[in-house]
Amino acid sequence: MRPSVVIYAICMGLIIGSFLNVVAYRLPRGESVLFPRSRCPRCGARIRPRDLIPVVSWVWLRGRCRDCGGAISWRYPLVEAMTGGLWGLAAWRYGWSWETALGLVVVSFLIALSAIDLQWQILPDELTYPLAIVVVGARLWMGPEPWWWYLGGAALGAGMLLTLYWLSPLLFGKEGMGLGDVKLMVGLGAFNGLTGTVLTLFAASLAGLVVGLVLQRMDRLGEQHRIPFGPFLAGGALLSWLYGDALMQAYFGLFL
Ligand SMILES: [Zn+2]
Repeated sequence: MRPSVVIYAICMGLIIGSFLNVVAYRLPRGESVLFPRSRCPRCGARIRPRDLIPVVSWVWLRGRCRDCGGAISWRYPLVEAMTGGLWGLAAWRYGWSWETALGLVVVSFLIALSAIDLQWQILPDELTYPLAIVVVGARLWMGPEPWWWYLGGAALGAGMLLTLYWLSPLLFGKEGMGLGDVKLMVGLGAFNGLTGTVLTLFAASLAGLVVGLVLQRMDRLGEQHRIPFGPFLAGGALLSWLYGDALMQAYFGLFL
């Protein structure tokens, strides 16, 4: 893999990450993601173009608004850095290809969705539906596996979560899963195909369980006593897409 492609992907990812911050902030508030230009949430001052450089501006201004000095959350540079890092990783793994292009779209959706889910405990239809449509369409068109592999992944993943959604009120007396998770899993299942979907669900459940237990132990679960599952599904899906083959080989190598 040529380093120039990876570096280009990282730089583009940082800029897209900046836009994803806008999406994650405005979409749950019902505001337009395109207009107006970014303003300080506290004093309303327009952010100057020179202060819009991803990550760098935040560090340079020490996390404060240039006009009112109000704190600007560390989540903004974190989202930008994660987008840059994951775009670079995708380009590193799949090179200059349609697979990378699809992966970059999925990564971007997942970062916005995760940021929104962590703060609001929702996965908006405005993001989960387009993600599902784009991924299913791309997989039917470009493969590389046959169509039923990807539609099977979508059906299996969404079906498992839908079953949990129905069952958990009966079994545990509370909602364990939102319908947003089910809709998200349609796109993620189609993205990874059948085996990748199994790995996605396994990794997400395992990580969710561990984090849940740790937070419970620290008494940090909050009043709702639930943690959003979207970010875990997102992490599981990306792990599966980037390293699923290697993980599967290592796993089956243990027995064969
Ligand atoms: Zn301000």
